[in-house]
Amino acid sequence: MGKEMTLKGKSAIVTGSTSGIGLGIARALAAQGASVMLNGFGDAAAIEALRKELASGGGKIAYSAADLTKPEAVAGLVESCIKEFGTVDILVNNAGMQHVAPVDKFPLEMWDKVIQLNLSSCFQAIRAALPDMKKRNWGRIINIASAHGIVASVEKAAYVASKHGLIGLTKVVALETAKSGITCNAICPGWVLTPLVQKQIDALAERKGISGEAAKIDLLSEKQPSHEFATPEQIGGLAAFLCSPAADQIRGSSFSIDGGWTAQ
Ligand code: NAD
Repeated sequence: MGKEMTLKGKSAIVTGSTSGIGLGIARALAAQGASVMLNGFGDAAAIEALRKELASGGGKIAYSAADLTKPEAVAGLVESCIKEFGTVDILVNNAGMQHVAPVDKFPLEMWDKVIQLNLSSCFQAIRAALPDMKKRNWGRIINIASAHGIVASVEKAAYVASKHGLIGLTKVVALETAKSGITCNAICPGWVLTPLVQKQIDALAERKGISGEAAKIDLLSEKQPSHEFATPEQIGGLAAFLCSPAADQIRGSSFSIDGGWTAQ
């Protein structure tokens, strides 16, 4: 990566960055020298090891256990980043969850939880971080949506609604910040092999009475023409690019990394 892509001196929040895609993004930003506020759940020793690993990029790495299903915790996460690093320059809204059920059997409390984590927490974090970004007239907001922000699948009502909503929110924030040095864009991954997807593979294997490997192939061949998973590293690479000067005029866009899923 070129010298002009360095994020030295910038500070970032990556929500849900203790595993999967968020961790891939945190790694990519930290490798360019950004200070990163990690967030998410997991084993304390493993998170501490991650914190040390990411600090080798030269930035400071901190961690917040904020549970973003609780609206009041979201602004607290932004405040703790500003307290720790002095600023919040980059906000990556990545934490998300899935729940699978037919619409007429979808538990009301799961609808509310998925919408809060996948959509409302993104709005709450942007609302809290924008005033600080405006002070320096520079900021990057990256929302991790999904192929399910563009197209639908059965039994994923809350997830699909939240991700479509997140793409809409991305466009509004991009328009409101269009005359500033703050940009807002979305990334739409297809299948990425993370714990979130592993759960769906396990459920498919169980339902069909097939092996885990066969279920992976089933899952990919149903939706993803490349028949290959996208990786957290690839998503991290795009997020780092969106933080670079080359992306100054990319505003309100959604980028698919989905092996051709939404080209069909
Ligand atoms: P993951 O389950 O591997 O990681 C989720 C992260 O969020 C973890 O760090 C977890 O601890 C954290 N988290 C979960 N609940 C939280 C909460 N209440 N508060 C704070 N943090 C919480 O998931 P992933 O597959 O890496 O997904 C990350 C994002 O990418 C999600 O928004 C997901 O919808 C999206 N996405 C994933 C895929 C995929 O195939 N994996 C595809 C498209 C979009």
